[in-house]
Amino acid sequence: MNDTRLELTRVTREYISGPNTIAALRDVSLTIEPGEMVAIVGASGSGKSTLLNILGCLDRPTAGSYRVAGQETGVLSSDDLARLRRERVGFVFQHYNLLSSLTAVDNVSMPAIYDGLPRRDRIRRAETLLGRLGLKDRADHRPHQLSGGQQQRVSIARALMNGGPVILADEPTGALDQNTGEQVLQALKELHAKGHTVIIVTHDMTVAQHADRIIEIRDGSIIADSGLRAIQDEGRQDSFRPRSSGWIGLWRHLEAARMAMASLNAHRLRTLLTMLGIIIGTAAVVTVAALGEGARLRVIANISTLGTNTLDIYPGAGWGDMRAGAVATLKASDVAALGRHDYIDSVTPMVTGKVTLRFGNLAANASISGVGSQYFRVHGVRLSSGTVFDDDAVSQLAPVIVIDSKVRDKFFGPGMDPLGQVILVGMVPCRIIGVADEDNLGAIRRGDLNVWAPYTVVSGRLTGSARLEGITVRPKAGYTTEVAEQAVTKLLALLHGRKDFYTYNVDLIRKSIEGANYTMTLLTSMIAVISLIVGGIGVMNITLVSVTERTQEIGVRLAVGARQSDILSQFLLEAVFVCLIGGVLGVLCAIGIGEVLAKVAPATAMVISPVTILIAFASSTSIGLIFGFVPARNAARLNPVDALGKS
Ligand code: ADP
Ligand code: MG
Repeated sequence: MNDTRLELTRVTREYISGPNTIAALRDVSLTIEPGEMVAIVGASGSGKSTLLNILGCLDRPTAGSYRVAGQETGVLSSDDLARLRRERVGFVFQHYNLLSSLTAVDNVSMPAIYDGLPRRDRIRRAETLLGRLGLKDRADHRPHQLSGGQQQRVSIARALMNGGPVILADEPTGALDQNTGEQVLQALKELHAKGHTVIIVTHDMTVAQHADRIIEIRDGSIIADSGLRAIQDEGRQDSFRPRSSGWIGLWRHLEAARMAMASLNAHRLRTLLTMLGIIIGTAAVVTVAALGEGARLRVIANISTLGTNTLDIYPGAGWGDMRAGAVATLKASDVAALGRHDYIDSVTPMVTGKVTLRFGNLAANASISGVGSQYFRVHGVRLSSGTVFDDDAVSQLAPVIVIDSKVRDKFFGPGMDPLGQVILVGMVPCRIIGVADEDNLGAIRRGDLNVWAPYTVVSGRLTGSARLEGITVRPKAGYTTEVAEQAVTKLLALLHGRKDFYTYNVDLIRKSIEGANYTMTLLTSMIAVISLIVGGIGVMNITLVSVTERTQEIGVRLAVGARQSDILSQFLLEAVFVCLIGGVLGVLCAIGIGEVLAKVAPATAMVISPVTILIAFASSTSIGLIFGFVPARNAARLNPVDALGKS
């Protein structure tokens, strides 16, 4: 049942062009009853199209009131107007305005996308409508494969898609020959017979004669109106208005995604070139992150070869303290005190020196370390044979010694067992009780031959100096070096009455290496980000081009009832897809680069973590959103009449 009465009251429409104001419509009052067939006639430029656009809610009056089915349109938002167009109005244009990339059936079904009709239902209805207009076997043709008359009938089918009671036709026969023009008019008359309101704009009186009512317009004013004839309507309207599903939002956005993909697919080369920026940007981001991660892991691995996380305590105020050599602030009692504490796993004092080792007729210089019984435990080193000296040996100045494998090889030959042999260390004969494998020494290896003796022996019998060069502490598992450092500092400061020592830990090395690494990563990341932004600008540019090229399409979509948000999401998704696909390809590129690098330069390991990939996608998608937004919003904000006018 057609209940759509159209009422114009004193409507004026002015265009501002330069300094002048052109009144395309002046003070027009007009009521069109549901089910009428009206022809609007007048010379070119008299304001017919302006009137029709206002009737179709494509344009708004400058002044006056326009009511559709009793609803004042002046107060409606653009989305409300879109809904009116979608539900009540169907447009038929002089030049058909079919979308050239879509088939007839897709063109016809398009208005229902914005009504949220599922695709299957849409296609079925579009096919039915095409069948009714005698185009059953042309459903899969594209516009350029159809004659003018056929295209115009496709566009009539499109106007009927949402079951709109009002059909507005602007010079529908203007581009057709006499014969096909007649056919199109017949089709419109049939719609009228079914109860639709049909309004035809024409400058051709013979066309106008088909209408029941003829309104003549000149210079924006109605100069003649043949008036209302009896309407033969009542209940005969094709009132089939397909019900949209409850999933309107989802369907619409799925559709928007499909359209975006279709458009990218239609311009594959252009899409690929645009994508290139994003591909390079993403590949750069991932590569940089992966190289950074690889370097970090390598540094950690290197540091872990330094041995356990230890904390060194030295006498003096800090590195290079001149008095440190002279003062003996660290004492054996400090070692004992530290050893009693919970957070300490093991602790050892340290004195060092150079000695000459002699065995038989062989002699060699070596570095000697005077240490406590827990020394090897502090550094996490296991002896390859023999044992370490115990606390008794330390307190009793037992002349025992642990040698490294180089010393063994030098004096006894590789593979020989030196345990129990007595070797002359300086002037002191020492029994060898353990051998440490040179390869396992990590941080405690020094370039020289190495031997270890109780520190009491070294300071008491070899160097003659009673002071400790340092104390090394290994915090218990579960205590960080920082915590241990604070506790040690507090304890020793308390024992000494002042802070006459300083601490140093391997973590510092790790931190400084990581710090340098971080700076590098930051630098290269910036380059990566810049390339992503450049890529984004490319995307923005191409989206702008896409919007400009398809202004007419946007106009058509708006005319059939697309909301601004529909247009926005269509173009925004286009930008996002470019970036997303670019992101995928970029990540693949980065993986490829990683493979190549692993072959060419195995030392530079790339570690691509899931987090990196996630970040890459997140950044490429947001680039799409950010750079696609302005062009897409421009598209969405286009005025439908202007967009159509540019066709
Ligand atoms: P018709 O369809 O009868 O040929 P129109 O309604 O298109 O006439 O135009 C009526 C008048 O308004 C004309 O003088 C035209 O130049 C003017 N006009 C139409 N559209 C615009 C516009 N967008 N900007 C400025 N003037 C316009
Ligand atoms: Mg016109």
